[in-house]
Amino acid sequence: MHQPPIPHVAGSDPDVAELIQAEARRQRDKIRLIPSENYVSVAVLEASGSVLTNKYSEGYPGRRYYEGQQFIDPLERIACERAESLFGVDHANVQPYSGSPANLAVYLAFASPGDTVMGMALPMGGHLTHGWPVSVTGKWFRSVQYGVRADTGRLDLDEVRDLARRERPKVIFCGGTAIPRIIDFPAFAEIANEIGAILVADIAHIAGLIAGGAHPSPVGYASVLTTTTHKTLRGPRGAMIMSTAEHGPALDKAVFPGLQGGPHNHTTAAIAVALREAAQPSFRAYAHQVVANAKALADALLALGYTLVSGGTDNHLILLDLTAQGIGGKPAAKALDRAGIEVNYNTVPFDTRKPFDPSGIRIGTPAITTRGLTQEHMSQIAAWMDEAITAAAKDDEEVIERVAGEVRDLLAGYPMPGWAAA
Ligand SMILES: *Cc1c(COP(=O)(O)O)cnc(C)c1O
Repeated sequence: MHQPPIPHVAGSDPDVAELIQAEARRQRDKIRLIPSENYVSVAVLEASGSVLTNKYSEGYPGRRYYEGQQFIDPLERIACERAESLFGVDHANVQPYSGSPANLAVYLAFASPGDTVMGMALPMGGHLTHGWPVSVTGKWFRSVQYGVRADTGRLDLDEVRDLARRERPKVIFCGGTAIPRIIDFPAFAEIANEIGAILVADIAHIAGLIAGGAHPSPVGYASVLTTTTHKTLRGPRGAMIMSTAEHGPALDKAVFPGLQGGPHNHTTAAIAVALREAAQPSFRAYAHQVVANAKALADALLALGYTLVSGGTDNHLILLDLTAQGIGGKPAAKALDRAGIEVNYNTVPFDTRKPFDPSGIRIGTPAITTRGLTQEHMSQIAAWMDEAITAAAKDDEEVIERVAGEVRDLLAGYPMPGWAAA
């Protein structure tokens, strides 16, 4: 059953309780390879579900618009101090509701509508909020976008430099959602400095790797960092903006009153709990294991003849191009899900198919590493993926069902936080 238990929901609202239990069982029974997902600790779940949700706290510690902040103020201070010490930054704001509002606050702090901003194009591995046309960030700003090279699948820093010199953006975003390689923060900093732009490192995907020393840190290169707290960092759904002391006041003003009302205090508490966990030696081991697992999984997939964008991975994430397998990313993802392996379909750079039916799938190792899987399991996972993808191309549901059973058997030995055997 769900952990912590939910007897009161079950008593008063069995429909909702059953859906929560069913989702917990689903998370327990699947090899979760979606690279933006994880399993938080029961301590993080408890803090998220606390009475802190009852309190309004517009403003910042010591400067609130509501009374009764005797315990919220020190709580938010603890969260900020833990973020500052874990990442080695001068200033942290833990109030953004999620990654997208955190990025919006950065635009609000440093740009005005119509100003030029720059980021990585979504189909190349960027995020919607880095200036993609359907996003408010592409509609209200003049957005210029960079990508990766067709021959290497890697970021093209010459293109970034040329584009920056020509277009002179006020704000440059680096980072993204489907980048399997180390981000060269010093090179981005050189480009931003040359044209006097603010460099923002959006580390939503890799924050946990950075905290655990398994990816270089942008601190000292990017003056502003944004991150979600729920991906590799393994905290509640939320976000943080970190910066040099100089930019702190403008960013704080942009979050509140610029963009948001009251902070979600229960989330602040859960972020504080997650940040303490991320400062432990066991989290460093976790971050390095995530990367070791991703490399082992990438090697196993390459050995089975799969095409990986950029040829492999340096971090937690792998992008497969299924063109050679003769199956689209969407039918492959659906077959894998039936086989107990949860992934998401994704565009690959220069995709010739439509975004809603692209050529790739995106996978990653943060969640399975939390459950305790190691390199020795990765060739089995790659083999199951191959069986399911091959079976999907031939409409062979029997194979898919067999794999789902084998997946459940393996995972039975690796309990998930958030579920207790009854
Ligand atoms: C996930 C992500 C976001 C957005 O986070 P949400 O919490 O989904 O709004 C922003 N930037 C990057 C790079 C991300 O990976």
